[in-house]
Amino acid sequence: MSKNLCVDCEQPCSVNRIATELFDENGNVIDDDVYRCEDCEEKVMSKKEYNGWTNYATWRVQLEFFSGHDDREWKSPEEMKHSVLWDIKCDNPVTESFANVFINNANFEEIYDAWLAEHVDHMLEAEDAEGVL
Ligand SMILES: [Zn+2]
Repeated sequence: MSKNLCVDCEQPCSVNRIATELFDENGNVIDDDVYRCEDCEEKVMSKKEYNGWTNYATWRVQLEFFSGHDDREWKSPEEMKHSVLWDIKCDNPVTESFANVFINNANFEEIYDAWLAEHVDHMLEAEDAEGVL
């Protein structure tokens, strides 16, 4: 597909386009050199559900910051959110405020619950492994 076409509506979008990535159902990047027009990006952003998550922001935040990162223990959704807000700090206040809006759209309760379920699984697996020794 031409890189100048929107990945969703396939209309030309050489000016008002947003760089995006295509993922498979496991969250692996299939193509990171694609674009979506502003209209379609808005639709994606406002979608009620995305890949089984509350919305696109929730899915994206858990994918970028928490999925597969089992090196930290989280005590609350608030702690996770603080960590993300800290990570996206940057020198440009406008950029940072845009990023903040995105982060505020994410459902950290949902991200925390998912992390907790995975964490408990890992703990049980670790216990099983110890039992064998
Ligand atoms: Zn489009």
